[in-house]
Amino acid sequence: MKDQFGREITYMRVSVTDRCNLRCVYCMPAEGIKCVSHDDILRFDEIVRICRIGAELGISRIKLTGGEPLVRRDLPELVGMLKEIPGIEQVTLTTNGILLKEQINELVSNGLDSVNISLDTLDAGHYRQITRTGRIEEALAGLDAACSLPGLAVRVNCVPLPSSEAEEYIRLALLAGDRRIDVRFIEMMPIGRGKESAGRSGEEILGILSDEFGEPEEVREQVGNGPAAYVRFPGMQGRIGFISAVTHRFCSECNRIRLTSVGMLKPCLQYGTGADIRKLLREGEQDSAIGEVMRKVIREKPSGHCFGEPSPDGEGAESLLETRDMSQIGG
Ligand code: SAM
Ligand code: SF4
Repeated sequence: MKDQFGREITYMRVSVTDRCNLRCVYCMPAEGIKCVSHDDILRFDEIVRICRIGAELGISRIKLTGGEPLVRRDLPELVGMLKEIPGIEQVTLTTNGILLKEQINELVSNGLDSVNISLDTLDAGHYRQITRTGRIEEALAGLDAACSLPGLAVRVNCVPLPSSEAEEYIRLALLAGDRRIDVRFIEMMPIGRGKESAGRSGEEILGILSDEFGEPEEVREQVGNGPAAYVRFPGMQGRIGFISAVTHRFCSECNRIRLTSVGMLKPCLQYGTGADIRKLLREGEQDSAIGEVMRKVIREKPSGHCFGEPSPDGEGAESLLETRDMSQIGG
C-alpha cells in the first residue's frame, strides 16, 4: 500500500532479537545492553502472523536483522515459515557473519534469498577494536561459505570510520574484484550510539577508491530493495555501493517499515513512533484489527529523517525522535 506521501511500502525489516555476540563501538556499549526478557520477544508464530498481515498490505520482501539474528535459535526454521507466506517473494538476512558458516546451508535450503555481511575492515586488529570481541577469521569463514553457494546473493556492508586507513577501504572493495559480490559503504547515522560516533561520507570513500582503481562506471539499473547507488570499477566482477543517508537524503524513495524484536512496528528509523503490535496479538485481536493498525502506521510514515537539520515534518516531529539503540530497533 502507499503511505500519505505516495510511497509504495513493500519492504519490512524484522528484528528477531536485541542480543548480539559482538559489541561494535558505534552500536553497543562494551558491557552490552540490558536485554529484554525472552517472554517479551516475539515468538516465531507471532512474527509470521504479523508478516502475513503485512503481505496482505503489500509487503513482499522481508529482511531479518537484530541485534545479531543468528544468535536466535532455529532461525532457518523462521526463514522457511516466512517463505511460505503468500505474497512474500524474498527473505533476506543481515548478519555480522560470526555464526554464518555453521548455519548458511540450512538457511539457504529453507529459502534464504540473500545475505548481507557486516565487515567494517579486513584488518584483524582493527576488526577486534571495532567489534571489541570479534575474530575476523570467523566472519570471513562465514563470507566464504556464503560465496560458495551458487544462487545466493552476497553483499558486504561497511560503515566507514575515521579510525580506518584508506588501504582498508581498498582491501574491502577488492572483495568485489574476483567475486560477484557487492561491497557497500554506509554512512554512520546519528541513531543510538551512532550519535556520538563520527563516520565518513560516501563521497570521501568514492574518492579514495577512484584514486586507486580509476574512474568507475555508474550502474544504472535498480539493484536490490534499497537506496544504494552503485558503481563498477574497471575489471571488477562485483559492484561497489554507497548508502549515503546523511549526505544524500533518499527518504522520498523510502519503501520500508520496521518491526522490532518486541513487536513495535516503526515507520521510520529515526522516529520513536509506531504501534505496539505484540500487545494487540497477545490481547487476542483479530487479524483485521491488527491490519488496520498496521495500515495506519504505514499511512502516517513521516516524510523523512532530520539528521542534523530541522525535521521536514515540522517542529513537533523532533520531540518524537528515537532514543533506543540500533541493536534494539533492528538496524
Ligand atoms: N548484527 C547484524 C549486523 O551487524 O549486520 C545486524 C544488525 S546491525 C544493527 C545492522 C547494520 O547496521 C550493521 O551493518 C551495522 O554496521 C549498521 N549500523 C549500526 N549502527 C549504525 C549507525 N549508527 N549508522 C549506520 N549503520 C549502523
Ligand atoms: Fe552487533 Fe550488528 Fe550492532 Fe555490531 S552492528 S554490535 S554486530 S548488532
